Amino acid sequence: MEKIQSHTKLVVVGGGILGVSLLYHLTKEGWKDIVLIEKGELTSGSTWHAAGQCPHMVGSYNLAKVHQHSTNLYKQLEKETGQATGFHECGSLRLAYKKEDIDWFHYVKGIMDNVGSPAEIISPNEIKKIHPFIRLDGIVAAFHTPEDGHTDPTSTTNAMAKGARNGGAKIYRKNRVTNIKQLPSGEWKVFTENGDITCEHVVNAAGSFCPEVGEMVGLKDVPSINMIHHYLVTESHPEIEKLKKELPVTRDPEASAYLRQEGKGLLIGPYEKDAKAWALDGMDWKFDMELLEPELDRIEKHLEIGMNRIPQFKDVGIKKIICGPITHTPDDNFFAGPAPGLKNFWMACAASVGIAQGGGIGKYLAQWIVHGDSEINMLEFEPRRYMSWVTKKYAVEKSTDQYTRMYVTPMPSESIDVGRPMKTTPIYKKLKDMGAVYLDSYGWEKPIWFGKPGMKEEYSFKRSNAFSYVQKEC
Ligand SMILES: Cc1cc2nc3c(=O)[nH]c(=O)nc-3n(C[C@H](O)[C@H](O)[C@H](O)COP(=O)(O)OP(=O)(O)OC[C@H]3O[C@@H](n4cnc5c(N)ncnc54)[C@H](O)[C@@H]3O)c2cc1C
Repeated sequence: MEKIQSHTKLVVVGGGILGVSLLYHLTKEGWKDIVLIEKGELTSGSTWHAAGQCPHMVGSYNLAKVHQHSTNLYKQLEKETGQATGFHECGSLRLAYKKEDIDWFHYVKGIMDNVGSPAEIISPNEIKKIHPFIRLDGIVAAFHTPEDGHTDPTSTTNAMAKGARNGGAKIYRKNRVTNIKQLPSGEWKVFTENGDITCEHVVNAAGSFCPEVGEMVGLKDVPSINMIHHYLVTESHPEIEKLKKELPVTRDPEASAYLRQEGKGLLIGPYEKDAKAWALDGMDWKFDMELLEPELDRIEKHLEIGMNRIPQFKDVGIKKIICGPITHTPDDNFFAGPAPGLKNFWMACAASVGIAQGGGIGKYLAQWIVHGDSEINMLEFEPRRYMSWVTKKYAVEKSTDQYTRMYVTPMPSESIDVGRPMKTTPIYKKLKDMGAVYLDSYGWEKPIWFGKPGMKEEYSFKRSNAFSYVQKEC
């Protein structure tokens, strides 16, 4: 066992893609005396078994910048480090079935143009040219992002680890962090199986274990919930063997699943409506490089719809089923920023698509840690948005719901009923009886407009039913 050094500037706890990316980007910002500690091997939490998809299509400017940086980085890391990442630039298609999907596509297209990520809204005929196997019934359009792809999560993490080591960072594997304490000097003492290390900054990048690591410094119930997620890989298919160009990743809201080519076969991963959280009483520290027992009953319906959409799935057998824990939060955004009430204790965890986001999270959080600010607005990723008010029950209900909404078109001003009502003021009921329509905002029920009693907003990308009421109020 390698004994750990006694002092450093910063310790990252956890060697998944988020922790390693942060380490790599901190070296790029000029910090060299930094350390990462991993209890198993690099990637041995959730990263090693991920499907590796890296989409650009997201409806937030800041998040789109995060995704864009990851993809750009994964494409060029081999040139820098000599370690291949396995990135395949096959593009993606997000299918639309209704007018609201297309309205949302136009909204996202504006963001893609602003960020500089190529994207186009294409017709069913154009879909057929890019993906000859998709059945088109019911489909009205697709959002095409040609620079999307998928990467090999382990190789990509290892490439960043190589870059970080080249930049001066040190990585200690097979060494669990057992406790973390703040010293009277304000420095942190990190206790590990192989010795203690004193540092200025600590980063919780412990993936599924981020609530346990948070607890070490007094953070109660960090709202990161492990959801069970599957994907299945088929045997090779003769029609795919003949293809000259790789098929794009297809995201199908009807199946609530991603469907893509994997080698000469196919891969399908559903976000089932009957979603299930896992390890709600806490993680076992021994969980390492492990998969969960598949629960095919819960995902069967989604597989059937997806396999009907690309019927080639039905011609060949399944050769591999991957089932593992995936972290989700109540709003499905990860945590990247300072932990509430703690100086120089940072969070880089709880990502549900951490492969797609890992590169960008590392870049922008490293800027924040080193320079006190980052190029993008990190508000939507701030850990402090939740921790003072969120309960475990709320975190589980909302995170489970968010998992099922992975491919549901989000609507403007949408306020979802799950976990409601939140904290109310003494005049909540009185205003409600007068027709107040409420929004959930940072733990509170907040009236946003007055309609007729019992009225709800009918969400729309155009003027909703709120318009005339708000007009009158104005
Ligand atoms: C089946 C499946 C498919 C997926 N497919 C995709 C996909 O296509 N695209 C995508 O973007 N995402 C995908 N994901 C999600 C992705 O895997 C995660 O978002 C990502 O791996 C999270 O990375 P991480 O670094 O936060 O966590 P992890 O990879 O879990 O890393 C955390 C590390 O911290 C270590 N650790 C914890 N506690 C301690 C401690 N006390 N001391 C030392 N070390 C500690 C753990 O051992 C672990 O290695 C998928 C997930 C699943 C389950």
